[in-house]
Amino acid sequence: VSAPVADGRRVVSDLRELARLTGGPGGAGRVAWSDGWRRARQWLTEQLAELSCEVTTDPAGNLLADLPGEAGGFVMVGSHIDSVPAGGWLDGVLGVLSALEVLRAWAEASEPPPVGLRLVDWADEEGARYGRSLFGSSTATGLLDPMDYALLVDVDGVSFAEAASECGVDLATASGARRSLDGAHAYLELHIEQGPVLERTGRRVAVVTGTAGVRRRTLHLTGEAAHAGAAPMDMRRDPVLAAGRIVGAAADLAVERGGTATFGSIAAHPGIVTIVAERCDVVIDLRHPQIDALSGLVDEVDTAVANICNDAGVRAEFEPQWSIDPIPFDPRLIDLARAACTHAGLEPAVMASGALHDAAPVAELVPTVMLFTPSRRGISHSPTEDTDEADLIAGVKVLGALASSTLEWAARQQ
Ligand SMILES: [Zn+2]
Repeated sequence: VSAPVADGRRVVSDLRELARLTGGPGGAGRVAWSDGWRRARQWLTEQLAELSCEVTTDPAGNLLADLPGEAGGFVMVGSHIDSVPAGGWLDGVLGVLSALEVLRAWAEASEPPPVGLRLVDWADEEGARYGRSLFGSSTATGLLDPMDYALLVDVDGVSFAEAASECGVDLATASGARRSLDGAHAYLELHIEQGPVLERTGRRVAVVTGTAGVRRRTLHLTGEAAHAGAAPMDMRRDPVLAAGRIVGAAADLAVERGGTATFGSIAAHPGIVTIVAERCDVVIDLRHPQIDALSGLVDEVDTAVANICNDAGVRAEFEPQWSIDPIPFDPRLIDLARAACTHAGLEPAVMASGALHDAAPVAELVPTVMLFTPSRRGISHSPTEDTDEADLIAGVKVLGALASSTLEWAARQQ
């Protein structure tokens, strides 16, 4: 079978057209469940209609388009068309419009694909309006009970249930989207990196090995309030001083382990300039793509916290906030993705994703791999988000080659 070639120039022109329709100088306006989102999907549906494939929306609002194959089951290719408010022209959309191009290439080919090809546009990946991301993909994988979202309200007091129902999604039956994965052999997603790592390597494409795990906790430090002038330094129990040392120690440990440590919120109480604080709360977010290294990092940070607080005469208490384990992608598909890069004449970077994507929940049930293209200066979720056109074209080419080898691989699995 001579596999059809996905043409990145068509994807770039589609991206620009969609940006004109649903964006502008202020950035992308495709927040899930909004008019802009529906307009984008209407446009996508019109493009798909020209390929004579079957377009449906599942009970969670995921848009699916199927091109039948020679054998049963299907390979899924996709991402999300929704954006954050004033978002970029590539985040999510790149993966959906590249999937459109892969379908288009196969629809124009002389033979049908070895197994079916399914485009998927996951609903509400960003969670921009209700603060919870990955709605459609997590519902389809059964990791989330959609009814948990029913009572969430947006800034205007509109409930998630109302907003979804305006778009034809009934939360009471949304879990039926689990059937959308029946028959899925694999899931492929091309996305911009949204960080600066790939750009620094000088490579055009990265094969993504998985998503990093997260351990996010608030550290409550309690010392003793004292007078800023009258209390000598060696007689203080200052929780802010302890926090500063903890920040330094945890950052060093993260560097040693190849992970990240972020302290996005630090608050001193009572927060008066002439008082040595009585309490200090620090949110510590630790991430690593490997579970053992993540656990090791957490243990080492805990030991550092205990030692520093002991020295400082400060009491420490952790309150869990949120955590998720690292999610590794499928090693067979990672190999196919590397081979697809070679096939396209490109040397890929190989990296884990620090950010979560729809591919993370999907990978729990379906063999999955992702590809990244670089983000200029690492900027995303902003109207200035950008990627060189040559990189976009390279990414699409690799995705097309990967889709072809995955379709053949899936056919051999039967
Ligand atoms: Zn995205």
